[in-house]
Amino acid sequence: DAAINRIAAGEVVERPASAVKELVENAIDAGARRITVDYADGGKTLIRVTDDGCGISGADLPLALSRHATSKIDGSDLLNIHTFGFRGEALPSLGAVGRLSIASRPEGEDGAQISVNGGQMGAVKPAALNGGTVVTLRDLFFATPARLKFLRTDRAEAQAIGDVVKRLAMAEPFVQFVLRDVSGEGAGREVFRAGAEQGDMFAALHGRLAGVLGREFAENALAIDAQREGLHLTGYAALPTYSRGSAVAQYLFVNGRPVRDKLLVGALRGAYFDFLSRDRHPAAALFIGCDPTLVDVNVHPAKSEVRFRDPGLARGLIVSALRHALAEAGH
Ligand code: ADP
Ligand code: MG
Repeated sequence: DAAINRIAAGEVVERPASAVKELVENAIDAGARRITVDYADGGKTLIRVTDDGCGISGADLPLALSRHATSKIDGSDLLNIHTFGFRGEALPSLGAVGRLSIASRPEGEDGAQISVNGGQMGAVKPAALNGGTVVTLRDLFFATPARLKFLRTDRAEAQAIGDVVKRLAMAEPFVQFVLRDVSGEGAGREVFRAGAEQGDMFAALHGRLAGVLGREFAENALAIDAQREGLHLTGYAALPTYSRGSAVAQYLFVNGRPVRDKLLVGALRGAYFDFLSRDRHPAAALFIGCDPTLVDVNVHPAKSEVRFRDPGLARGLIVSALRHALAEAGH
């Protein structure tokens, strides 16, 4: 029901960047190799995510927009930890608070599209497009004007979109990402581009690091590879000289999901404690992999916090691995 969807939507979609996050995660889940994100006016008037993933059959389009319908839980009701989604909430939420249209074409099928405006679903119609999916979200929060008031400037919202796209690009180095600002007239302006990286995960991540944080940064980053009692820490951490005035260059992932977790950020800070003043923030891209039973990634629908079964273990692993790498590098 439309009212319930609008209330629930507030949990999932706080601002344009959270809509971008949900749509890009869906594209990744669909196995896309190329993902393009266009936005206008900080994402307030337009967000469009184009992917070359598996697509959605015309017959399934209404289902994709229905609450709690997801294709990502297997028959045994076990969570597929290899996908971002599983709640089936994002598309119905976006359709409740904006003008959402989905055009999609799975391989070997005809293209189809559906629209939903402020919770009112239209009929499935034919659509001409290449393989994959184009999701267009216009006028976010037009149906909930109270929310509109809380949005920041176009510039600030665009910045948040860029941050989300870069975090997901770091998580998926084998996928090509393009981000464009298409505000106003003309063809738009490319804000960020990262080509698909090659090689093994470490090589690909190193390439992506250069793409997101700069070549000089990547060339001077310390490779991290450590494990302890079922937790595996990999990635790169920067020398103290590459620290930043804010935490923007901290990329943390748990089982492939970008997180922004107090415990992990605190551990990172702890590792650099002797080398950085309080106003400097270490730069790093760190991945913790572990058995899904050792960590709860579903604390909040936006999924940026995690809860480790043994928080001390996670903290200890990060602090000791980074201190060790820093010591090896002469610190
Ligand atoms: P969830 O991701 O939790 O399953 P969503 O509301 O984000 O829920 O998406 C609902 C369903 O729509 C997904 O389970 C998937 O089957 C389908 N879907 C959404 N976006 C895409 C996409 N870009 N490509 C293919 N299928 C998609
Ligand atoms: Mg989803």
